[in-house]
Amino acid sequence: MMHGSINVTGAEAPFYLPQGDECGLFQAASDKCLPVLLKGPTGCGKTRFVAHMAARLGRPLYTVACHDDLSAADLIGRYLLKGGETQWVDGPLTRAVREGAICYLDEVVEARKDVTVVLHPLTDDRRILPIDRTGEELSAPPDFMLVASYNPGYQNILKTLKPSTRQRFISLEFRFPRAEHEVPVVARESGLSEERVAPLVRLANKLRALKGQDLEEGVSTRLVVYAATLIAGGMSTDRAILAAMIEPLTDDPDTKGGLLDLVTAVF
Ligand code: ADP
Repeated sequence: MMHGSINVTGAEAPFYLPQGDECGLFQAASDKCLPVLLKGPTGCGKTRFVAHMAARLGRPLYTVACHDDLSAADLIGRYLLKGGETQWVDGPLTRAVREGAICYLDEVVEARKDVTVVLHPLTDDRRILPIDRTGEELSAPPDFMLVASYNPGYQNILKTLKPSTRQRFISLEFRFPRAEHEVPVVARESGLSEERVAPLVRLANKLRALKGQDLEEGVSTRLVVYAATLIAGGMSTDRAILAAMIEPLTDDPDTKGGLLDLVTAVF
């Protein structure tokens, strides 16, 4: 496989604690063959949500982590040399269309511009995927669903979605979970008790309040899970917080000092 990974489910859906009506909305979009865009900061549960919904809907899931070198050919497929012969090999998007799967393009704004050209005919009522290189034109079956995510927090004007693209998707905004949700999520993911997770989440919310001033991004739920996992494994709280919740946020010594003051205030 070139890019992307597939999870064929059947087993239990991965744990996901809903924050609101997102599961119902995703289900409705899926029923009506509408594409979905998930907006939100990194590490707040978007990927987990898609994995959970794919399992609940009983659909295979192709996940593609987009990066600045990812091109339309990476998604659609290309001719490859195999045993002296050139053979067409489907990319993850083509495979998802053929199989009636969910294709999740994570951080879609990172991808090269030609990717959006491919997405347009798939995300309107035509629901087609033209494969120029083979002359095929695939019609997406009702079970095919396109899901994309992006992080509107990055203040990079070159990396926002154009209105002509974003207005093709049903959009769902994700935020970091409220404390009463984040505590049980982190406890379940890490094995640390809710009592011991609670101050980590309090600290996370204090750090998030600094976003835009000293920090580009607030601490993600993923990082809180990392800290709690290290503590559950026997590491001291201070060391785990420094490694999982402070160092990943900044390289600037002054900012780091300020963040450590917050730690002292919470613990
Ligand atoms: P994103 O795709 O938004 O970058 P992820 O879906 O990878 O983030 O989330 C990071 C981690 O946070 C997950 O692995 C999971 O442990 C945890 N997480 C966040 N929100 C939830 C939630 N609502 N239910 C269950 N786990 C969650």
